[in-house]
Amino acid sequence: MQQENSIRAVIFDLDGVVWRGNTPLPGAQDIFTYLRENNIPFALATNNATASREEFKQRMEDIGVPVSVEEITTSAVATAEYLKGEYPPGTKVIMLGENGLMQAMLDAGLTLVEDPEEAEIAVSAMDRELTWKKLNKMVNAIRRGIPYIATNGDGSFPLENGYGVGSGGIMAALEKASDVKALTIGKPEPRMYEIVMKRLQAKPQSILVLGDRLETDILGAIRAGMKTGLLLTGVTSREMLETSSIQPDLIFEDLFEVIEFLTGGRH
Ligand SMILES: [Mg+2]
Repeated sequence: MQQENSIRAVIFDLDGVVWRGNTPLPGAQDIFTYLRENNIPFALATNNATASREEFKQRMEDIGVPVSVEEITTSAVATAEYLKGEYPPGTKVIMLGENGLMQAMLDAGLTLVEDPEEAEIAVSAMDRELTWKKLNKMVNAIRRGIPYIATNGDGSFPLENGYGVGSGGIMAALEKASDVKALTIGKPEPRMYEIVMKRLQAKPQSILVLGDRLETDILGAIRAGMKTGLLLTGVTSREMLETSSIQPDLIFEDLFEVIEFLTGGRH
């Protein structure tokens, strides 16, 4: 029997849900095959703004899952869509970030500028080639009183040997130096999910959001009114879950359990 539950669409986080590093997590290929065979639309929604949609599409293909770019939303893409809705084409943006952000800004018809005096909007994301000079440019633009937007507020993220400074860490430096608070788009703000939801054309209660991080994936989905499923294959352990004030609707050991749930099995 199919679809005993009311799920009509699924939104996936990537790191810790679909893959870890370059390794697909158990059931990754199977769940996408299942969704395709059953015509259940899905979207991939990641706070990672460093890579472009095309690069994520390639990474999905590398693990044996063909997807279209339209099925991928990064916090950079969501930021670009937000800006597109608020400002006219050609609006001058000064940015701090990597290829993913640059590509998203250009795709949205925005103009990139280097001069803080010329910029009409400042946008920041994670940048693994961050320099003091780059920070200064942004600070001087933001101090002029133009809108300042950060793709996401993640302070740090796990690396193979420790932690890396994330978009939120860089945002904190810019906020402190400019005395301006950023508007953030990615999870846990509901904005990115709302953009994805529009594309899926499904009611929030009928969308299952799968994530591995309580304070971003799950909290953002709760705020957007969607059904939440925590995967224990990423950053959250059972112990962390027990002590958290953020609680998902469902808990899954791996993606095979999600397939079971979708087919009307246990949970
Ligand atoms: Mg994750």
